[in-house]
Amino acid sequence: MKYAAPRGTRDILPADSPLWQLVENVCRHYFTLYNYREIRTPLFESTELFTRSIGDSTDIVKKEMYTFPDRKGRSLTLRPEATAAVVRAGLENNLITADSLTKLYYLGPMFRYERPQAGRQRQFHQAGAEVFGSSDPLLDAEVIKLCVDLFKALGLKELEVSLNSVGCRNCQPAYRTAVQQYFRQHAKALCADCQARLLTNPLRILDCKEGSCQSFIEKAPAALDHLDQECRAHFDKLVGWLDAWQVKYRVNSRLVRGLDYYTKTAFEVVSRQLGAQNALCGGGRYDNLVEELGGKPTPAIGFAIGLERLIEVMNKLNLERPAEGPELFIATIGDAARQVGVQLLAEARSKGVSADLDYLGKSLKAQLKAADRIKAAHVYIIGDEELKKKTGLLKNMATAEQKEVPFDQLLAQSDHSCGCGDDCRCE
Ligand SMILES: [Zn+2]
Ligand SMILES: [Zn+2]
Repeated sequence: MKYAAPRGTRDILPADSPLWQLVENVCRHYFTLYNYREIRTPLFESTELFTRSIGDSTDIVKKEMYTFPDRKGRSLTLRPEATAAVVRAGLENNLITADSLTKLYYLGPMFRYERPQAGRQRQFHQAGAEVFGSSDPLLDAEVIKLCVDLFKALGLKELEVSLNSVGCRNCQPAYRTAVQQYFRQHAKALCADCQARLLTNPLRILDCKEGSCQSFIEKAPAALDHLDQECRAHFDKLVGWLDAWQVKYRVNSRLVRGLDYYTKTAFEVVSRQLGAQNALCGGGRYDNLVEELGGKPTPAIGFAIGLERLIEVMNKLNLERPAEGPELFIATIGDAARQVGVQLLAEARSKGVSADLDYLGKSLKAQLKAADRIKAAHVYIIGDEELKKKTGLLKNMATAEQKEVPFDQLLAQSDHSCGCGDDCRCE
């Protein structure tokens, strides 16, 4: 019997994990730089949390959630996204209060029963941030700039921010009616899903990816034309701040996010490097959600980055990948040389230099081959000759350059922060 990973899931293998770690580290670095603190919530929550927040009529709630009863018959759901859980945890632990600003970030797996395709898995990973407690448009600009900075740091270019405002409780109903009336005239030409959306949630039609719906979507009423004064002023100030920070954006009046709770600002960041539209992250304001989940009225904004998509893009662009193997592989011939090698191995590790040696009793040739296979940066060779001279042969595996380095000199200079020596490749 052979087992396979469940459909829509994927193992992240050692060859891929350096890139995952790089992305995760850059995310953590930028979140911290912007003064966000990490929160880790359970992978499952009570089902009602998601139906209440994401919305009954969304695809997520209707057909994509992993919902199951536990042994006591309570309905639980694997989190399909993190915002609702972060709000729940923030309220339960008094992190979200009416008179303070709270900045939180998270990183981890989410679960949606979707048709698996490139860059889309049933267990997928998101990194995201949420801010609670202020409706200042400068915060909207800040989270957008955070996304752009983070993607730039990962080497992505031709980044474009797609920006819209979906209004508030006051102005959204009129817009919704306008959209409904407009699509009603074309009801017969819409896809089956959109015909249903026409009754339950007409704004969602704007998000439809079906080819047959596109020409109607393009001519649909624009949200920005239906904003009330407050929402218009908020949007104008936001673009003012983006201009001040020289963040490029494009107004996309059809951008509605796939969840019900958004208000005012909605945005996506895409990279045009691969031609097709690739939304690397999406987010927006959700000023009513905290109240809907039982808290005091608290404005909030957040976004999530799809890590599978991001890593797929980075792979396609062949961006520089972090080192996979150890900094040092110590190859020895004979017992006496091995004694020295074992001492140097411990010294290397104690100085923060990743290092390894042979445990399979291989010949020197086979040890060098193994070092190459595990992508070691350097090999230090100790044989009989070297033992006499107390000097090993240090080989740079990338350049094939060799030089003699005395035993007591090998790790002498390894005292800078990461411990990798002169040609450090940790950074
Ligand atoms: Zn409004
Ligand atoms: Zn459609």
